[in-house]
Amino acid sequence: MSRDLPNSKDTELLQRARRVVPNGVWGHMATRGIGPGYPQFFSRSEGCRVWDADGNEYIDFMCAWGPNVLGYKHPEVDQAALAQMQRADIGNGPTEVMVELAELLVDTIDHADWALFQKNGTDATTVSVTIARAATGRRKVLVARGSYHGAVPWCSPSTVGVTTEDRAHLIQFDYNDVASLEAAVAEAGQDLAAILMTSFRHDIQRDQELPEQAFLTAARKACDRTGAALIQDDVRAGFRLDVRGSWAPYGIQPDLAAYSKSIANGWPLASIAGNARMLEGAAKIFTTGSFWYGAAAMAAAKVTVRILKETDALTHIAAMGQRFRDGLEAASERHGYRLRQTGPVQMPMVLFDGDKDLALGNAFCAAALRHGIYLHPRHNMFFCAAHQASDIDRAMEAADRAFADIAKAGFTQQ
Ligand code: PMP
Repeated sequence: MSRDLPNSKDTELLQRARRVVPNGVWGHMATRGIGPGYPQFFSRSEGCRVWDADGNEYIDFMCAWGPNVLGYKHPEVDQAALAQMQRADIGNGPTEVMVELAELLVDTIDHADWALFQKNGTDATTVSVTIARAATGRRKVLVARGSYHGAVPWCSPSTVGVTTEDRAHLIQFDYNDVASLEAAVAEAGQDLAAILMTSFRHDIQRDQELPEQAFLTAARKACDRTGAALIQDDVRAGFRLDVRGSWAPYGIQPDLAAYSKSIANGWPLASIAGNARMLEGAAKIFTTGSFWYGAAAMAAAKVTVRILKETDALTHIAAMGQRFRDGLEAASERHGYRLRQTGPVQMPMVLFDGDKDLALGNAFCAAALRHGIYLHPRHNMFFCAAHQASDIDRAMEAADRAFADIAKAGFTQQ
C-alpha cells in the first residue's frame, strides 16, 4: 500500500499528525487498530467509493462506519443541507426544520410519540439512560456483555481513565440468553431503571447474532412487569435495516431508541425517539449541546428518512448485501477457504473459520485493499444504496485475486 512507501502522502500526514495530535489519529478509525496495509488519510468520497490521500480509489464497504446509507455526496440530501445552511444552521434556537423532522420521525418509527436531537450516538445512548432513570426514579441499567454503546466513562470499552463508580449501576447479561437476562433483572430488583441493548449482536471479532424472538419478548415483558424502560440502541443498525426501527419485523417496540449514523446520510445528527410513557422523564431532564439544534443536519435527515421511506433503497441495499455474500462464498470456496459470514446481509461480518489471531483475515483484507476494495477484518461492514451490482461484481473480482494472493503467500486454514 502507498502508506508503506516512505514518500507517500499518507505516511507524511501521519508523521505530521503525530507531532500535534495524540497518537496522530484516535479511536476506531486509527488504522493501527484495524490491520496492516490500511491507508489512514482520505481525500475524497463519492457514492460507494473513497480515495485515500495518495489518490488510490477503493470500493468502500465500511460506509464511514455507518453514516453513508444513500451514497457519499448524495445530491438531494446535500443540496437540502447546503440550502438550509445558507438560510440558518445554528442560531439562538431551533428552526422550523426541527419540528418537521420530529413530525417525520414520529410518523415513521413505530414506537415514537416524540423525538429529541443530539449529535453523536453516544449522546443519544447516554441521554436515553438519563431519561429512563428520570422516568422511573431508579438507578440500575442492564447492558449486554461486550455490546458497544459509545465512548464515555459509563460505557467505554476501555477502562483507562474510568472509575468503578462511573459504572456502579450497570449489571451485565448475555445477549440472546433469556436466563441471564432474567437473573440480571432479579439482581436489579426494585431499582431496575432500564434494559439497554443493541438491535442485534454486532460485537467486534465474533459471529454476529440476530436477536431471538423469545429474547426480545422476554426483555419487553420484563420491562412491562417491572415498569423499567426498554432502550434500543439502534445507532448502528437504524435506518439501514428497517425505517420503522430495526425491531419492527419482530413486533417488539422499545420505550426509547437511540439513532445516529445513517439518519442524515453523513451529516452530524443523533436522535432519541420515545413513547408517551417516557415523555415526562424526557421533559424533566436537562439535556443540551451547543450544536444540537443545527438545522442543516436536520434538513439532511428529513430528506434521508423520506428517501428511505418512499423508495426501494433499503430493499436494494439488502439485495447488494446478498449478492456480496453469495459472491464471496463462491470465491472463497474456489480457493479452498472457509468463511463465517454472519449478521444481516446489509451489515455483514466476514471472518475466516478458526482464524483466532486474524492472520488470514488481515492478510486477505490487506490484499483486497491492493486490489481496490476496502473491507474490515473484524468489524461488521456496511452496504449503501449507491452500491450497484457492477460494483459488487468488480469487488468480487478483486476478492478473487485477494484469495489467490494469500494462497500464493502460503496462508492455509486449519
Ligand atoms: N451505539 C452503537 C451501537 C454504535 O455502533 C455506536 C458507534 N459505533 C455508538 C453507540 C456511539 O456512536 P458515536 O460514535 O456516534 O458516539
